[in-house]
Amino acid sequence: MNVLIVHAHPEARSFASALKDAAAAELRSLGHEVRVTDLYAMGFDPRLTRADFLETADPAYFKPQREQLHASEHDSFAPDVQAQLDDLAWAQLVIFTFPLWWFSLPAILKGWVDRVFVMGRVYGGGKVHETGGMRGKRAMLCLTTGGPGSSYSSDGRNGALGALLSHVQWGMLHFAGFDVLAPFVVWGPARASSEDLAATLTVWRERLRAIEHEAPVAVEPLGG
Ligand SMILES: Cc1cc2nc3c(=O)[nH]c(=O)nc-3n(C[C@H](O)[C@H](O)[C@H](O)COP(=O)(O)OP(=O)(O)OC[C@H]3O[C@@H](n4cnc5c(N)ncnc54)[C@H](O)[C@@H]3O)c2cc1C
Repeated sequence: MNVLIVHAHPEARSFASALKDAAAAELRSLGHEVRVTDLYAMGFDPRLTRADFLETADPAYFKPQREQLHASEHDSFAPDVQAQLDDLAWAQLVIFTFPLWWFSLPAILKGWVDRVFVMGRVYGGGKVHETGGMRGKRAMLCLTTGGPGSSYSSDGRNGALGALLSHVQWGMLHFAGFDVLAPFVVWGPARASSEDLAATLTVWRERLRAIEHEAPVAVEPLGG
C-alpha cells in the first residue's frame, strides 16, 4: 500500500511528531511504501496565490478556482503544487498528523488543503463526495489535543470532537471523495505520563498493523 503522511507540527520532538515518526516506521516495517510531507520542516507556503500557476487564465482578476481548473486542464501547476498532487495521486491512504489548533487544523495544513485539493483534479465539475477525484482512496486524521477527552464529549465544555472535526472529515476529505477512517486522537499528551505516552504509541502501532483492511466510518455534514 502507498501511504502519504502529511504532518503539521513546528517541533520535531513533539508528541504529534512522534506519532508521525511511529507511523512511518511501522508502516515501512510492514512493507508499505511511505512518503512523508513534513510541512514545517519543508517550509511549505500555505498561501494560495498566483504563484501556484505557470500560466494565467485571467490576468485581470485572480479567481483561484478558475486558475486551478485551467492548470488542471493545461498541466500548468507550479512545481511545488504539482509535487503534492503527484503524491496524492500515488497515495492509497493519506494520514494527517497534527495538533488540534483552535478546534481545527494548524493554518499550514489548512493552506496545504487550499493549494493541493484543487478544482479540476480533486473536485469540481460534478466530482464531489462519492464521485470526488480521491474516490477509492482512504484518509484519516491522527491528532493531539490540549484538552482532556471528557471536554470533547457531546455534553462536554467543548462539544463532541466528531462534530468539531466535521468540517475536515466531511467538508474536505469526504468532499474530495476519500473514504474516511476513524480518527486517532491523543487527549492532552502534555499532561500524560511518559508511561502512558509510550503505551499510546504502542496502541497506534497496533492499529497501523491492520490499517490496510480497516473499514471506513460514516462521517456527517456540519449540523448533520
Ligand atoms: C495555536 C494553538 C491553538 C490550540 N487550540 C487548541 C484547541 O482548540 N483545542 C485543544 O484541545 N488544544 C488546543 N491547543 C493545544 C494543542 O492542541 C496541544 O498543545 C497539542 O495538541 C499537544 O500535542 P503536541 O504534539 O504539541 O505535544 P507536546 O506538548 O509537544 O508533547 C507532549 C509530551 O510528549 C512528549 N513526547 C514526545 N515524543 C515522545 C515519545 N516518543 N515518547 C514519549 N513521550 C514523548 C513530550 O516530551 C512532551 O512532554 C492549541 C495550541 C496552540 C498552540
